[in-house]
Amino acid sequence: MKGLILNIERFSIHDGPGIRTVVFLKGCPLRCIWCSTPDGQNMFPELEYFSHKCIKCGRCIDACPKKAIVKLNDEIVTLRYECTLCGKCVEKCLSGARKIVGKEMTVEDVLKEVEKDMVFYSSSGGGVTLSGGDPISQPEFSAAILKMCRERGINTCIETSAYGDWGSLAKMLAYTDFLYVDIKHIDPLKHKKFTGKSNRKILKNIENISKSYPDMPVVVRVPVVPGYTDDMENIRAIALFVSGLGKNFKIELLPYHRLGIHRYEALSRPYLLRDLMPPPHEHIKTLKRFIESYGVKVIMS
Ligand code: SF4
Ligand code: SF4
Repeated sequence: MKGLILNIERFSIHDGPGIRTVVFLKGCPLRCIWCSTPDGQNMFPELEYFSHKCIKCGRCIDACPKKAIVKLNDEIVTLRYECTLCGKCVEKCLSGARKIVGKEMTVEDVLKEVEKDMVFYSSSGGGVTLSGGDPISQPEFSAAILKMCRERGINTCIETSAYGDWGSLAKMLAYTDFLYVDIKHIDPLKHKKFTGKSNRKILKNIENISKSYPDMPVVVRVPVVPGYTDDMENIRAIALFVSGLGKNFKIELLPYHRLGIHRYEALSRPYLLRDLMPPPHEHIKTLKRFIESYGVKVIMS
């Protein structure tokens, strides 16, 4: 079985217990306007061009069989509608300014990468984490990776929006030891406005998880995006919702950051929150105390 992989990162300590290998899958059902990994959204390979790394040598222009790269007013421009993603320009670019994201891999290919760090998993209580994008975009492939990890005694974790049918989610959860799930906004209309989809399916799935997997450690991730998700009304409603799910549920506050902006430029896509600044640390601490007053444990990243 094959899937489309964005990236595999080793030695992560922020994506579940212990030291972990994070497998980022391509494809996400949501389009959050603050998303920091736009290269993970689409379920197909894409060409990225990082202008700040480009030394304008012109090697890519000569290499492109489709004449899809031109120099315009001393800028290197890719005519994306002509590009066939052949990768010839990437091979010739010596400064790493060009990259194709999205690589087909088999379950066995992924396992080979994951197994390289077995010794670190056993010494730290770590394992593998499927992220993205969102693993729910490739549920069979994700479930197959998780199953093979389980068979090898590797701890498994997924990071998902939970936007999908229960059957797809349950396929993965059957082999999952630790879960991260997002609640971006409690209001269905605002959720739709900010992410492209209503949250009804997500909230229903989270309730199902609490009933079907009462012992699974679950971290509900809440992005703190100033002016979008950080009002007390939203935070209160999320705290109330999570407080009714069980003691195995915690909340993690994820302060908005601007680290993904260069990826939008690399994909020639607009970034709508260009002027938005990250929230002050004091604000996050206040929200943490507020949520804790509802009896919910809070993690700050
Ligand atoms: S080959 Fe790379 S460094 Fe040279 S012009 Fe093309 S993108 Fe820029
Ligand atoms: S990936 Fe191929 S077709 Fe696309 S710009 Fe590069 S060389 Fe041209």
